[in-house]
Amino acid sequence: MCGIVGIRDAGGVSFSIYYALYALQHRGQESAGISTFDGTRLFKHKGQGLVAEVFDSAILESLEGNVGIGHVRYPTTGANRPENAQPFNFAFRDHTISIAHNGNLVNSRQLRDEYECRGQIFCSTTDTELIAKVITEEMSNSGCIEDAVHRCMRVLRGSYSVVMMIDGVLYGFRDPLGIKPLCLGRTQKGLIIASESVAVDALGGTFLRDVAPGELICIDGEGMRSMQIARASRRAHCIFEYIYFARADAVLDGALVYDVRLRIGAKLHEEAPVQADSVCPVPDSGTAYAVGYSARSGIPFMESLLKNRYMGRTFIMSTQNERERAVRIKLNPIRKHLENGAVVLVDDSIVRGTTSRRIIGIMREAGAREIHVRIGSPSIVAPCYLGVDMPTREELIAHRRDEEEVRRHITATSLHHVTIDALVESIGIGRENLCMGCLTGTYPVDIPGEVSSPVAVDFLDGTYQTRLEKFGTGKE
Ligand code: AMP
Repeated sequence: MCGIVGIRDAGGVSFSIYYALYALQHRGQESAGISTFDGTRLFKHKGQGLVAEVFDSAILESLEGNVGIGHVRYPTTGANRPENAQPFNFAFRDHTISIAHNGNLVNSRQLRDEYECRGQIFCSTTDTELIAKVITEEMSNSGCIEDAVHRCMRVLRGSYSVVMMIDGVLYGFRDPLGIKPLCLGRTQKGLIIASESVAVDALGGTFLRDVAPGELICIDGEGMRSMQIARASRRAHCIFEYIYFARADAVLDGALVYDVRLRIGAKLHEEAPVQADSVCPVPDSGTAYAVGYSARSGIPFMESLLKNRYMGRTFIMSTQNERERAVRIKLNPIRKHLENGAVVLVDDSIVRGTTSRRIIGIMREAGAREIHVRIGSPSIVAPCYLGVDMPTREELIAHRRDEEEVRRHITATSLHHVTIDALVESIGIGRENLCMGCLTGTYPVDIPGEVSSPVAVDFLDGTYQTRLEKFGTGKE
């Protein structure tokens, strides 16, 4: 539920990390942080708020060094407490360590209990601190980072993409199922590891490849090494990254998100064609889907709902009345486009159903006669435990309601969700390699009280296959 980045670059890193975090801002708006290392000292700054609110040029100038990591934190996970902001920084023996994480562990309570029973203390409620504990414990046993990451992959259950800096060496690793994204790119004088390729683009860098599930990347002054620590029998890429979470211009595990959404839009027309005057997206989450629907159906694409891009989280809403007004300030219908017309309204997903219901109300008030809702995801029927903030089953509108009941609730003229088959085909990654827990209620890792079909993971004990890749290092 977060965005992470790690950069090693001979030209200094704080500004680059800032720009990369800016590009990843959609992955988290609660807090932002950067840690850098100059060869001997750790520099760090983090705070609550958006990247642009937390940093200014004086702060960035003070973050010295050619290696560093950064993090943006998602707004609604866990406690909104300053101590939960990342990167998490600490000293361990003679080592200086910073770590940042994207994902969600499903066995963190149990692991925490084990550590606490041994008298260990925690300063935050984050999974990140737990991952740090697993790593330092193994470092003190074997002194070897590969073994420490191996230990993580053995004991952590859930999703985790991690960037870590130990004494100025940059590491990145991804859980053996590859649930959350992580990719590699080249910067002007070094290398970047980031949640999405858009962070590489923002630096004018070159996208190199995704970090493989179960892979550990190590970047130091000598170059980049890659080690396959674990190998799973299949992958479990999060489907919701394609549907909603990732930016449309990101390439995730080989698929350009915009094109996936275009293809889904086209399928929505094939599966549920309708006569209408225009195709209107819910901005911005429905835009690429609506373009695809319009292109396939021949019905003109028309933005009849305009979004105010300047409405931040700080907008004050103390009463119900003000909340209603906030919706109107955020989204304004264009009456002339809608009056007496039939509209295909396209969005990515219905979760609780409150957004669609509200938007349909606004469009009807503006004179729309028919509103045919087309949704780019199948019905969301089960919660996510692996990193996407979803409400409980009871709060999900599609839990125990069929499509007709949901249609009535949101007051649409007609409603269609894309089918799972069409979604999988549009992504272009085999169904067996996707996590579709929120759509099917079957999860790729063991979750107490839920149905799962856990993926087998092989550990390449002691003999990690190390590959040296000569992408340039930061020495140039
Ligand atoms: P609702 O049905 O009222 O819960 O709102 C669903 C809308 O919120 C969708 O159109 C998405 O654009 C957006 N959305 C979906 N999932 C999430 C999420 N995990 N966090 C924030 N917004 C989301």
